[in-house]
Amino acid sequence: MRLAILDYGLFEIYQNGRQIGIQGYLIQTANRNILVDTGFHVDYIADPFGVALSDGLGKFGRLLDYRAEHNPHGQLALLGLTNIDITDLVITHGHIDHVGRIEEFPNARLWVSQRERSLPTPSYWDGRSRVQWPAIPTEAVPHGCEIAPGVLFFPTPGHTMGHYSLTVKLPNLGMVILAADAISRPDEFADDTWSDAEDPNVARASAYMLRHLSAERNAWLIYGHCPQQWLVLRKAPYWYD
Ligand SMILES: [Zn+2]
Repeated sequence: MRLAILDYGLFEIYQNGRQIGIQGYLIQTANRNILVDTGFHVDYIADPFGVALSDGLGKFGRLLDYRAEHNPHGQLALLGLTNIDITDLVITHGHIDHVGRIEEFPNARLWVSQRERSLPTPSYWDGRSRVQWPAIPTEAVPHGCEIAPGVLFFPTPGHTMGHYSLTVKLPNLGMVILAADAISRPDEFADDTWSDAEDPNVARASAYMLRHLSAERNAWLIYGHCPQQWLVLRKAPYWYD
């Protein structure tokens, strides 16, 4: 089993000037290509300001760098794969920077928490959505599950109440935790506001659970949007194994 980190572009948050990477992951097993999250919608390439305005994102921030290669298709090409090779599509939660390309994987089985999937569309942004749930076989996971041997998908609620994270057991590196937005960046522990969460108290508990898991299992914790970590992560075509 091996893991690649996908670069879905760079986003700036106006309030604090923070520049955050938009992350995806490809987990490859002997017979499965498991894609985790899909980045922003394709429309942002042609008309970033107009689309941000219509999505209600314009006041929050902007995409600093989002080109054709910053989508699953372009990132998978770096790994010698195409969208039709994806056997499993895992969505950590329904926000705008995770589900933009969710409709582009015809051969995949969708894995998402039951709570997220119970919404009429992905939660996206600001009460509106540019994407629909794709009409592909779907596992609406109620309490967590093993997607493939060594790939766990489990609840880390708070950021959204249906948010899930993953652990991946790599043969050489050992356990890796893909926290996604359950821990956006480690500074969140010091700030202790969890203010962008749907339920800050629940988000705090999930974050501490992941941090404890990382310490106890000596696991590498990959944050959802940490500016410092993003710079040192080795991106596709590099494989962690
Ligand atoms: Zn989010």
